[in-house]
Amino acid sequence: MECIFCQIVAGEVPTEILYQDEEVIAFRDINPQAPTHLIIIPKRHIPSLTHLSEKADSSLIGHMVNVANQLAQKEGILESGYRLALNCGEWGGQLVPHLHMHLLGGRRLSGKLG
Ligand code: 5GP
Ligand code: ZN
Repeated sequence: MECIFCQIVAGEVPTEILYQDEEVIAFRDINPQAPTHLIIIPKRHIPSLTHLSEKADSSLIGHMVNVANQLAQKEGILESGYRLALNCGEWGGQLVPHLHMHLLGGRRLSGKLG
């Protein structure tokens, strides 16, 4: 299996799992860009947002947002604010080709979107 995030799901790369259910898992980014920088991913390998199927995946992103909100509360950044980011494709800044949501917070983030 080549995908690093699939390897994390499979337990092949030692990673502290902060949250998991049947559909998703969450862990800390290895190269954090903020005091809180978590990654939330579907367990199933979906390469990017582009590959979401309207029928099969209609509830997935909403579920990931709910998980992110719970984790933001656990991290103590619910009140100060946080950012969820989904990078898609080369020009969207996506490096790991397994759909993932970034949860960033714990400092005042730049207002720039690119
Ligand atoms: P992207 O740039 O694709 O939106 O984000 C990929 C993120 O995954 C990057 O922030 C990177 O630091 C993180 N990442 C890449 N490889 C690993 C890894 O093996 N473990 C963890 N915890 N994070 C990783
Ligand atoms: Zn994968």
